[in-house]
Amino acid sequence: MKPPQPFAILVRSLTAALLACAGLGLAGCASTTAGGAVGAERKQLLLISSQQLNQLAAQSYTKLQAEATKKGTLNTDPALTRRVRAIAARIEPHTAVFRPDAPGWKWEVNVINSKELNAFCMPGGKIAFYSGLIKGLDLSDEEIAVVMGHEISHALREHSREQVSQAIAAQAAIGVGAALLGWGSSSADLANTAYDALIATRFSRADENEADRMGLELTARAGYDPRAGIPLWRKMMNANQGGRAPEFLSTHPAEANRIREIESLLPTVMPLYEAARRRG
Ligand SMILES: [Zn+2]
Repeated sequence: MKPPQPFAILVRSLTAALLACAGLGLAGCASTTAGGAVGAERKQLLLISSQQLNQLAAQSYTKLQAEATKKGTLNTDPALTRRVRAIAARIEPHTAVFRPDAPGWKWEVNVINSKELNAFCMPGGKIAFYSGLIKGLDLSDEEIAVVMGHEISHALREHSREQVSQAIAAQAAIGVGAALLGWGSSSADLANTAYDALIATRFSRADENEADRMGLELTARAGYDPRAGIPLWRKMMNANQGGRAPEFLSTHPAEANRIREIESLLPTVMPLYEAARRRG
């Protein structure tokens, strides 16, 4: 697709902004979160606003729900939906450790009835769990909490926003960039583009590592045993070997490394878990 002229000009000015930002540390580079106990303060390139992306994410999420409703797959197991929502409700207040605005987000949590081993949290706190992940891997509440903490952390760090920003800066993914900046076609097309971009997001290993670390801290602060990360990733590893690699794991770090990283983080997060338990 050939970008419309104003977009090309904008990309040039954004690229200039990027260079200035890299050279001088000006606006455009910031950390979306505070560090927490695990230290999540890496500076990020952010060329679009949270509002722009969150609005698109909300539209995409609505579309996902509408499609699931049509197929009869939305929250078909009320006990499972209650369970997943209860875990989210316990984690949400603790997101304040990383960013004070997050507990006030319009969080939504739904369960899609599907064999797929998948879960995600879109920008702005729109969470979906696929029943196949929980039932197929027989996840405990603690293990669900570890997955949820991880997915929520992608949203807190605004990894999608960072990715779109990098794409704009690289003058790639023009369709998404143009859509986000309001050029081009109908709002239906816009929602589709965003849907593809947000659902099909492939995060970098660095992003995955951040989400693991922050997610484990959230898990612990919410009073879920972070040691559950170890059996969780073993289950993931087994699913992988069976050729059933969870979709959302496809670019995730090798599970064996991941287990070692979780073990190395336990001394940092176990005291948070123990404090949460003492508070009841
Ligand atoms: Zn991830």
